[in-house]
Parts: sequence; structure tokens; C-alpha cells
Amino acid sequence: MKRREFILSSLLAAGGTMILSGCNKKNIIKSEGEVVKRKFKDINVPLLGFGCMRLPMDGKNIDMIELEKMTEYAMMHGANYFDTAYMYVDEMSETAIGKVLKKYDRNSFILADKSPIYKMNSREDVRKIFDEQRKKCQVDYFDFYMCHNINLNTVDQYKNVKMVEELDKLKQEGKIKYFGFSFHGTPEILKDVVNDYDWDFAQLQVNYLDWDVVKAHEQYNIVQEKGIPVIVMEPLRGGGLVNLSEKAMAKLKESYPKSTPAEFGLRWAASQNNVITVLSGMSNLQQMKDNIATFENFQLMNDDEIKTADEIAKIIQSQGEINCTACKYCMEVCPKGINIPAIFSLYNQYKVTKSAFHLKIYYETLSETEKADKCIKCGLCTKNCPQNLQIPELLATVEKEYEKAKQG
Ligand code: SF4
Ligand code: SF4
Repeated sequence: MKRREFILSSLLAAGGTMILSGCNKKNIIKSEGEVVKRKFKDINVPLLGFGCMRLPMDGKNIDMIELEKMTEYAMMHGANYFDTAYMYVDEMSETAIGKVLKKYDRNSFILADKSPIYKMNSREDVRKIFDEQRKKCQVDYFDFYMCHNINLNTVDQYKNVKMVEELDKLKQEGKIKYFGFSFHGTPEILKDVVNDYDWDFAQLQVNYLDWDVVKAHEQYNIVQEKGIPVIVMEPLRGGGLVNLSEKAMAKLKESYPKSTPAEFGLRWAASQNNVITVLSGMSNLQQMKDNIATFENFQLMNDDEIKTADEIAKIIQSQGEINCTACKYCMEVCPKGINIPAIFSLYNQYKVTKSAFHLKIYYETLSETEKADKCIKCGLCTKNCPQNLQIPELLATVEKEYEKAKQG
């Protein structure tokens, strides 16, 4: 299915409460002063969700003051969907979110959490970890709960420990309202997984760059054909679609001078058919204010905007950047502690700017043990990378180019 086929233009009238029923964009609910919502089963879900994987930090700890301000602002504006996971922010996210949500009535927020497949050695572990998560989040039940990160490496474990069977039991007990999975594997695996259960939803990586680059549209079509609603993760590709290169930014500004890259990317993702919510991993109050403004005044993208997104994606692809989303899954397994996402992020900035400044940051801010030349090419990281990046080869390329740049 082509991008264009997903998108229809439509306008939301301001004021009051109304439900729009566009061809494939049904159930958009607007209330004054709040982000737009979509009806999903028996609840209304804000189209913007707070992804709690990049929380505000104060040194090595979560900045609880900023997080409280962000939560308060979100709740005031109807953005009451919070998405956490066992591993987020070095396993501190669930506890922090539990603390800040404690003062709100349990019915006033929607909490999503995920079962960490990599930690499961038996079926008993599934329930044990679930109970641990409820305790950390200080809740009796999760609204949305999912098998986290099914991919080439985790799919066997997910099946062996009978995760679906155990989590279905928890759903029957009323401790999970909606049961789904998040996915970073291949279309072949996905075709199998969608038949494992009568899933309430699937969480997929959907953004205008990955649509073609990592064939996100193939995965999207597989779940669409099964009629499974989608929660969008990484709509801005871990910030990669916010910090656009000069050329990509010029394209956006030439067509839509008032658009920001974040607003453009979020609207693109939220304009796809059958999307429940779009998660944004916000790290400070200003980002939250900007994103909430986008969804208070939300408008579906029109054909021309979709065309511009296609063009920007082509510009980004032509720049030779590494498609890393900074998820850090590779770092969980790297025996040398190489800071892979930081290396790729700096390299991407260097590719676009060719500036000695980014070279200097690489050599001066990363410790010697974190650098690319310490890679022993064991390949463990590649198996864990949702983007299927050939990490050892890419690290070697980075190292070679930097060495050359240093000498030249
Ligand atoms: S291949 Fe290199 S970067 Fe990857 S896990 Fe092994 S040492 Fe770490
Ligand atoms: S290299 Fe892959 S696994 Fe590592 S941070 Fe980037 S996208 Fe995630």
C-alpha cells in the first residue's frame, strides 16, 4: 500500500466536542483545550502518548521535578497516556512514573507497560515480573500491556516460556485490559506472531523515513490485514527527524514555512489509518508543550504534505546517515561497553555538517573504552538491533572516516 493511499485531508473544527468520521480516519474526538482523542474499545485514547524511555535527567537520575511538571501539564491537556517498560532509563522509568502518577485517580490515566522477554527463563517468570512491575508502578492493573520487542532473537524465548498463555490468564484476571505486543523483527516473523493470539493492538515503529528504508509499510500492512490497531513508536526516529540537515530542513521550510520537523513527523505518523496513539519520548516540558500544541490543533496530513515527507525522506537517505534510533538494545549485550548510539549519532551529524566540531566531540567526550576502535567484532550487538544494522562494519567505517578526516 502506498503512503498516499493512507492520507486524506480533513479539518477539525475548533471548539466544543465533535467526532469526525473521515473515510479511514474515524473517531477523532476534539475537546476544547485538550489533545485530540480516538475511541478505542471502551475508552478514549489521546492521539499523543507520553513515551517514558527518554525521561528528563539530572545526572544519572531521573529529574523528578521536571517529570512532575511534564505529567501535570500532560494531564491538564488530556494527554493521559503513559508508556513505560522494564528496561527504560536503566530500569528506573517504571518507578518514576509510578511515583508521579500516584496522586492521580487510577481511572484518570492510561498506563502501558511491557513484559521484558529477555528476562524470562520460565512461564513463572512472566507473572513474577508482571507483579514486580505493578509494584514499581503502584497500580493494580495495566491498561495496555505487551510482550516487549519481539524480534529475531526473542521470538523463540517468547514462545518457549508461553508468554501469551500466561499473560492471557492475567488479562482474564482483570490485571491487563488490552493485550498486545511491540515488534522489531522481520515481516516473516510478524506474519507468524499476528496469528498467535487475538491481539488487541500492535506497537510498531512507523515514521516517514522508515516507511521505505526499513520497509515499515510491510509490517504495517500485515497487522492492517489482520485488523489489529496500531500504536506508533519512534514517530520521530529517536529524534533523527527533529534534527534535520540543512538541506532537508530547507525542503520543509520551502513547502511549509510554519511547520517544525517534530510537528511534521508526528502529524505524518498520526495520519496513518487505524492508529490508536503516537508515542513521543519527551525529555523536557518544552517538548511536551510543543507536542501537545500539535495535537490540540491536530490536522490530518494532505496529499501535498505527504509528498513533501517523501521528498525529505529521500534527502535524508541520500546523506548516507546510519539509521540508528538510539534505542540502546545493542548496548545491553556489548561485552566491551562501546557507546554505539552516541558514536552513530555524532557520525550522522558529522556526515551532514562535515564539521571538525563533531569530530572533536567524538574524540573529546567519549571515553577511550567507549570508542569504535575497541570493537572486537563479536557480532552480538547486530542480533539485538531492531534496525538490522551491521554494527561492527559500521563502526569500522566510522573509525576509518574519522582517522582520514583527522589526517586530512
Ligand atoms: S561487535 Fe563490537 S560493538 Fe558489537 S557487541 Fe561486539 S564488541 Fe560490541
Ligand atoms: S545500533 Fe541498533 S540497537 Fe543500537 S541503538 Fe542504534 S538502533 Fe538501537
